[in-house]
Amino acid sequence: MKAVIIGAGLGGLLTGAKLAGAGYSVEVFERLPFTGGRFTNLPYKGFKLSTGALHMIPHGGRGPLAQMLREVGANVIILDSEPMAVIRKENGAIISFHDFRNELSLTKQVKLGTVLAYSLKFRPDNDISFRDWVLKYFDDDFLLKLADSFCGWALSLQAKDVPASEMLEIINNMYLYKGSGVPAGGCSAVTDALREIIESKGGKIYTRSCVERIIVNNGIAKGVIVKGNQIDADLVISDIGHNGTSCLYDCTDKEYLDKIKNLKPSKGIKICLSSDEPLIGHSGVYFTPYAKRVNGINEVTNADPSLAPPGKHLIMSHQAMISEDTKIEINVGLLDIARLFPDKKYEVLLIQSYSDGWPVNRASSGSDTGNITPVKNLYIVGDGAKGHGGIEVEGVALGVGNLMKEIGIY
Ligand SMILES: Cc1cc2nc3c(=O)[nH]c(=O)nc-3n(C[C@H](O)[C@H](O)[C@H](O)COP(=O)(O)OP(=O)(O)OC[C@H]3O[C@@H](n4cnc5c(N)ncnc54)[C@H](O)[C@@H]3O)c2cc1C
Repeated sequence: MKAVIIGAGLGGLLTGAKLAGAGYSVEVFERLPFTGGRFTNLPYKGFKLSTGALHMIPHGGRGPLAQMLREVGANVIILDSEPMAVIRKENGAIISFHDFRNELSLTKQVKLGTVLAYSLKFRPDNDISFRDWVLKYFDDDFLLKLADSFCGWALSLQAKDVPASEMLEIINNMYLYKGSGVPAGGCSAVTDALREIIESKGGKIYTRSCVERIIVNNGIAKGVIVKGNQIDADLVISDIGHNGTSCLYDCTDKEYLDKIKNLKPSKGIKICLSSDEPLIGHSGVYFTPYAKRVNGINEVTNADPSLAPPGKHLIMSHQAMISEDTKIEINVGLLDIARLFPDKKYEVLLIQSYSDGWPVNRASSGSDTGNITPVKNLYIVGDGAKGHGGIEVEGVALGVGNLMKEIGIY
């Protein structure tokens, strides 16, 4: 059996490694000159910046991605963050993420305990947002700000744009898998290891090879066209989302097209900083609920010093894009950083904005519609088809797992 994969991002490479391990002959086509998509390193002035991600694996060594990497035999060391995260309060004091309850009144603490313990009972309909859910049960300014900070950092969305049902699944997974980690060597360590697995099993990965068309005969995917050449396949897997994929063949299923046109990407801005002294001092997330735009910051060199030149730290701040004016969003983000670290010296290395065809998430969290397309043997993976309750790359791994079940591979 032969599988062709469109796109060598994390979703495409994970799928390729799983299929190659199951005996498929795998060919991956990537339009860019490099593999890894938005999860690979971008060397810059001796720092290991990235094409997208903040070098973090949301559930560290215990989560769905780590489990799948082990399953396929990818040799990746994940350095679990310690502490998982902290919160910077309005007065500048830092508290452990787990102590956020102590900021609430006693009545709200008791209510929170009950709601979390019986979260299934409190699970709302899909149409209530996480912000409205927090308002309904708690109506607490600190919790609302923390909800925005968490959703902005982890999903590049405001809490009002995340369905509460998805967020409760995410919270359940946080209790199940625990906190974050950094892959030693950065994002590339993950995607390079997967590339090696595919190649070691005889699979082929072609860069600078854009898939121009998907060949569909009588509703069944038969292969792809690359540089004018036809490549036949039994299975076509696309890592470019439902909408991008539907443009590569004549999709006539109106119901499907109507459904996927509502899949909106999440947009964000990443500001990479360098400093001689640590700004944060640990490898967990530094949530900033009282900043105007910045949702959180990490300092990955506390986990892996090799991500910066000797004696330097790499710090990355992330913010969901609130308005359409990228320039204003960046300026407010830079002012936030200056206010958060008034007496620290740092240099702004690079500012990256993510939207449209290179977003933070191809389908914003909670809007994913799964792997299936109207075409037989054509499936979607990646962050356009995340598994529910999966933050970013954890969602990508859960989505690939769902596809494997769909096609009978475990
Ligand atoms: C600023 C930012 C910070 C983030 N931080 C984190 C983080 O710290 N932790 C985390 O878990 N996640 C994070 N993410 C999300 C994470 O990067 C993505 O979820 C993940 O990389 C998506 O992988 P993918 O395979 O779905 O898509 P992609 O990486 O986009 O891969 C798709 C590939 O398909 C290729 N392609 C497109 N069209 C074609 C074609 N026609 N033919 C051939 N190839 C094609 C593209 O070039 C691309 O390489 C972050 C994202 C951003 C932008």
